[in-house]
Amino acid sequence: MPKFIFVAGGVMSGIGKGVATASIGRILQSKGFKVTAVKIDPYVNVDAGTMNPVEHGEVFVTDDGTECDQDLGNYERFLDENLSTDNYITTGRVYQAVINRERNLEYGGRCVEVVPDIPNEVISRITKSAKKNRADFVLIEIGGTVGEYQNMLFLEAARMMKLRTPKDILFILVSYVPVPKIIGEMKTKPTQYAVRTLNSAGIQPDIILARSVVPLDEPRKRKISIFCNISRENVISAPDIESIYEVPISFEKDKLGIKILKKFNLKPKTKEDLRDWKKLVKTIKTAQNPIKIGIVGKYFKTGEFVLKDSYISVIEAIKHSCWFYKRKPKIYWLNAENYETNPKSVKELKNYNGIIVPGGFGSRGVNGKIKAIEFCRKNKIPFLGLCFGMQLAVIEFARNVCELKKANSIELSPDCQEPVIDVMPDQKALLKEKKYGATMRLGAYKCKIKLKTISFRAYKCSDISERHRHRYELNNAFKEVLEQKGMVMAGINPERNLVEIIELKNHPFFVATQFHPEFKSRPLNPHPLFREFIRTCIKK
Ligand code: GLN
Repeated sequence: MPKFIFVAGGVMSGIGKGVATASIGRILQSKGFKVTAVKIDPYVNVDAGTMNPVEHGEVFVTDDGTECDQDLGNYERFLDENLSTDNYITTGRVYQAVINRERNLEYGGRCVEVVPDIPNEVISRITKSAKKNRADFVLIEIGGTVGEYQNMLFLEAARMMKLRTPKDILFILVSYVPVPKIIGEMKTKPTQYAVRTLNSAGIQPDIILARSVVPLDEPRKRKISIFCNISRENVISAPDIESIYEVPISFEKDKLGIKILKKFNLKPKTKEDLRDWKKLVKTIKTAQNPIKIGIVGKYFKTGEFVLKDSYISVIEAIKHSCWFYKRKPKIYWLNAENYETNPKSVKELKNYNGIIVPGGFGSRGVNGKIKAIEFCRKNKIPFLGLCFGMQLAVIEFARNVCELKKANSIELSPDCQEPVIDVMPDQKALLKEKKYGATMRLGAYKCKIKLKTISFRAYKCSDISERHRHRYELNNAFKEVLEQKGMVMAGINPERNLVEIIELKNHPFFVATQFHPEFKSRPLNPHPLFREFIRTCIKK
């Protein structure tokens, strides 16, 4: 029988519940257990695919093509496992399934009620993912904060599961303990309120992870223990730390793993305790020599704040590869629109070891990105283009090298006369019917790599599979012209003869992919293309 650990958040969002969940997973895994993690997002959207990155952050994509929350990316990176659609639950998905079943007369003519039918659907999804992943432990992260109207039904599902099999369920509250500057003291009251709110949903946390700027001291632990009705040893300190990858080690300082196992009456199955992970963290903390990578994009700003969430997998992939070479990653946000208003400023790209143009949609900032790509091409600056970045690299090359002055993507100019990036007929039909949700080319597709290319040098094999999320493709009608002028079609999807990787000759590293390699990079297993990119950047 698998064990289920629910992780809910108190006081406020954005305190690292996803990383905490992933870290608990990694800890249990290191004790010899098979672990999987499920993210519950309380929004009505069926998936994250229709949301703007500024609104939602990155849309992560799994092998099976699920467009989901970026936390699944955290889980994959920490657990080093590929997850699937069963690891992602939203209010939209749950209601859609229940309503479909009702329409098919599968409730035997009875009245279908919010409670218990909605929580029951949630429970059946959670248990399905346990079975499918053959997990000893399923971590279930409930999005949002306790007390929110939106996640009540998920807490209700958790409560009902506990009622059915009390010995198999554990509740963890990730709460925030502020240290207000004017008071200069750590305050536990918000956490006390959060626990009371959770109590009113019929749930008592077994463990509290107390997030704060600094570790909790004894008096604070005691206070939380008394007022939140939880033993002192189950109040775990979770102070701010430099790298998310240190979180499992930080939790283990408070012996979190053993405490969880004790609650279930279990013992560790192995002795291997986070050895590789500790080595990684040591590198992260000691790497000195910086590698400067510029990301040219547009989803950075929200009001007065800079938002990095939109490209989180790209950022992590860069870091993984830098650490592989024992270098310190330094990432810079370069706003593509600046190169439009002030074209000369593109020269600043010389100051970086390498440049990435990541995925994107729509025309804002496109000309600036194209300027940046042109500059990298001409000045032999290592360049990696991802999805939209690849499409724009093709447009730049077509316009400036092949003299196809009107070259463009159908996405950006629907009546374009030289559509080097085109839409496939099946996609055209979907767009005409306004079927936007989960209809892009999504998830893992095969790719065959040409010998003697940079990509082959990176992957060391010719058969690969990578994850996609796009509607448009390189137009094969222009392949020959592009090739004649020196573009190398380094990777091709064998089933549909689609170009997946382009490269340029006579350039230290000019590689762009239609797929998103960043989704498959793991801290202990960096992605081969990113690794090769960083290796070239180091040489520069
Ligand atoms: N907008 C482009 C397309 O839909 C690229 C998408 C992306 O970068 N993920 O094809």
